[in-house]
Amino acid sequence: MNVTETTQPPIRVTTGTLVVMDGPPSDTDTRLSYVCTKCGAGNCKLWRLYESTETRLMCAPCSAEDQDRSIDGINAQGQYTIAWGLFQGLPTVDIGWRIPACIKADGSGYHAITNCPPEQWQWWLDLPTLPTKAKEGAT
Ligand SMILES: [Zn+2]
Repeated sequence: MNVTETTQPPIRVTTGTLVVMDGPPSDTDTRLSYVCTKCGAGNCKLWRLYESTETRLMCAPCSAEDQDRSIDGINAQGQYTIAWGLFQGLPTVDIGWRIPACIKADGSGYHAITNCPPEQWQWWLDLPTLPTKAKEGAT
């Protein structure tokens, strides 16, 4: 495996159209276990590690801290403008190596966002981007 260019996370730009249908619409019960493992926030968008069996979900602020990335200006769609590197100025929903955690309707795992049923992607988009609870200890 060629690892010479892995210092920069892969950047997924969100100007394209998500395609492929492979699952039924979301069941709202799947939100119950959908909480940030770092701060405990729920009812908000969460991110997971790209191509990893590590399953810790994190909210936007915790993902940004975990990945040492700025998400300044993140919007209701969980999208912000990349402020570094080759893709500077382009919109993305990825936070470093963390990608949107689009839970499968049956709760068995997560969709890759390029292979996500539109209903599940919409479910993620409809979640508040930021936790309502202020992060404790942040000053
Ligand atoms: Zn969090």
